[in-house]
Amino acid sequence: MECIFCTKTNTAKSIEHIVSESLGNTTYLMDRGAVCDDCNKKFSNSEREALSSTIFLMERARMGVPSKKGAPASGQLGGFGIQGSQNLVKNLIFLTGLKEEDLVDWDADKKTFTLKLPTFEKNEVAVSKTLLKIGLEALYTSQRKLYKKHDFTELRQFLDNTNRIDWPFIVSDDEVGSFESIPINYQKHQLSKFRCKLLYQETNDKVLLFKFSYGAVAMVINLLNRDLLWMEQYQTNKYDTIYPIHFRTKLERLLRRQTRATD
Ligand SMILES: [Zn+2]
Repeated sequence: MECIFCTKTNTAKSIEHIVSESLGNTTYLMDRGAVCDDCNKKFSNSEREALSSTIFLMERARMGVPSKKGAPASGQLGGFGIQGSQNLVKNLIFLTGLKEEDLVDWDADKKTFTLKLPTFEKNEVAVSKTLLKIGLEALYTSQRKLYKKHDFTELRQFLDNTNRIDWPFIVSDDEVGSFESIPINYQKHQLSKFRCKLLYQETNDKVLLFKFSYGAVAMVINLLNRDLLWMEQYQTNKYDTIYPIHFRTKLERLLRRQTRATD
C-alpha cells in the first residue's frame, strides 16, 4: 500500500490512529499501510508536543482522558504542573507551582479564582502539523472524493519538513458558514463520546477548512495552503485567536492593503 504522506509503498507494522489515542480515540484508524511506519513515528513526535504542553493537556486532564498507558494526563503549561485525577474523575485537576499572585479574582466565599494559562506555549507549529495530519487522514478515510479532488502537496511538504514556513490556524468556535462532519455514522458517534468532532467546509479550490474540536477547544485550519484571508470573517475586531502569533500582524497588514485598494 502507498503511504498517503510520503507515497512510499510499504507494509507498515503499526496502525495509525487518526485522532491520537491519548485524546481518547480507540476506533478511528487508518488502514494498515496507508501511513508508513516512518511517517507514523515522525507524527507521533509532533503529536506528543502538541498534546502535552498546550491547551489540549488541560482538556485531557479536565475530561479525565487517560494516556495510552492508562495514566491521567500530566504535564507542564505556563510554568505550572497540571495533572488529571488518578481515578480519571472529570473536572478534577491537580495544579502545582501556583503562587498567590497567579490567582486572579480570588473569591474567599465561593473559593473561586481565575487562572491565566498560555494556549500553546511554544508548540504552535506542532499543533499546526497535528491538525493537518488529522485532517488529511480523516478525509482519506471518510471523504475519499474530497481527498481525491484537491491537491495537498503544500500540506505534505510542510509535514515532511521540505517546507518549514509556519502554517496558520485559528482557535475559534465561531459558527461561520456551515461545516459538515468528516466521519459519519459509527465513527462520528464514537468520537463524540469524548467530545471530539472533525468537520470540513469546502469554500473554493483554494480553501478547504478543517475544524477540529475537542472538549471546549475548537480550531480551524486551511488544508490546502497558508493563505490567511479566509480568517477575516472570524476576526471582525480581534486578531488574538490566530496562531502562530506572527500571522496576526500579517493578516492585519493584508486587510489594510485590501481596504486601501478598494477605497
Ligand atoms: Zn510515509
